[in-house]
Amino acid sequence: MIDGDILIIHYGEIGLKGKNQVDFLRCLQRNIQSALNRYLKDVSVKMHRGYYSVDIKNPDSETVNAVMGILSATPGISWFAMAKKTDRKSIEESVISVAKDEYVEGGAFVVRVNRSDKSYPKKSNELEKELGSVIINSTSWQNVSLKNADTTIYIDIYKENTCIYTKRYRGVGGIPVGSSEKVLSLLSGGIDSPVASFLIAKRGCGVDFIHFTATPMQHKEAIQYKVCELVKKLSQTTLRSTLYLVPYTHYQLATMENRVDYDLIVFRRFMIRVAETLAKQNNHKALVCGDNLAQVASQTLSNIISADKATDMSILRPLIGYDKNEIIDIAKKIGTYEISIEPYKDCCSIVSQNPKTKSNHNRLSEIENRLFENYQKIIDDSVNDSTVIRYENGSLCE
Ligand code: ATP
Ligand code: MG
Repeated sequence: MIDGDILIIHYGEIGLKGKNQVDFLRCLQRNIQSALNRYLKDVSVKMHRGYYSVDIKNPDSETVNAVMGILSATPGISWFAMAKKTDRKSIEESVISVAKDEYVEGGAFVVRVNRSDKSYPKKSNELEKELGSVIINSTSWQNVSLKNADTTIYIDIYKENTCIYTKRYRGVGGIPVGSSEKVLSLLSGGIDSPVASFLIAKRGCGVDFIHFTATPMQHKEAIQYKVCELVKKLSQTTLRSTLYLVPYTHYQLATMENRVDYDLIVFRRFMIRVAETLAKQNNHKALVCGDNLAQVASQTLSNIISADKATDMSILRPLIGYDKNEIIDIAKKIGTYEISIEPYKDCCSIVSQNPKTKSNHNRLSEIENRLFENYQKIIDDSVNDSTVIRYENGSLCE
């Protein structure tokens, strides 16, 4: 008899870890538990050898969709399935019931058995053949195709659970958020920096965000803007994120009366210095940027080096060697692309008429010394005027 619904969740790279594997496993278990608790009360994520399971009672389709959405964005998961749970004596009966429900007229099926529990007496391929015949004899399915099946009927025999399902959903892979240290990501409203942030979260870092705006913003108006929408979306992956909206009005006031050579890169160094100050206050171990070598004028090698020299913190740039189309593909997959291409209303970056492609740190330091009587004060005032917004598992924290 089918005995309710069960989520089964598999990890990938964690399986390669050595002695500290259990720390990664517990971290992922906590992350899945907190993500699920937004939609399902009273469920518990159980950790087994090689996988996790969650018993779910009569989930409605809306809940199932929400759960699928959140699991497919959670780093550490390689694949998952919503399955029917059965007992070992009733495998045949349960397989018939699932096969009938999933019948595709004129279609072909295949049975795939995964016998994790090697003490189960029949071998996987033996059971696959046997259940294939049972389906043909007891349902409308008449065609088997090993390579081009319309429907795959999976039977997983674990020590603790026997599960039947027809669809495996891919996770994002990587390692669980919280297993590496925290970083602060410089998020523009563009396509690249959300992807960069996603890739770093996939390597286990907790990610907070900083975004520079032309004017100070109140919490209430800010949450409508696209950068907030981006962080909300990304927080399905980063789990818990704080967004600092920093106005660059103090910078603009200080530079207003001067035509600045190298304006783009001077502004970039300002953003990095503000980010560094916030990062040091909040225990972030590194900064993240969406730079991509030679994509635009600000991203020539010498400009990237000049940006690096503005801080003693490490700046992670996961997109440095990507092709723009590869970045767009990831943005589409993770659901940030559609938000990123909306027109900007909230932020305008400093736009240079004649951006310099070559720069060096000493020359820039001279310009900055001339420009800013008290640079640290401009940085501190900017930090003090920032608006802080928090997101958790794809939702705004009130
Ligand atoms: P993106 O697509 O991420 O906007 P880009 O190709 O437009 O990147 P730039 O505008 O040169 O490139 O920005 C490079 C990086 O600088 C961004 O990826 C981001 O990390 C940071 N950045 C740019 N503008 C802002 C901003 N207003 N607030 C915070 N960070 C920013
Ligand atoms: Mg941009």
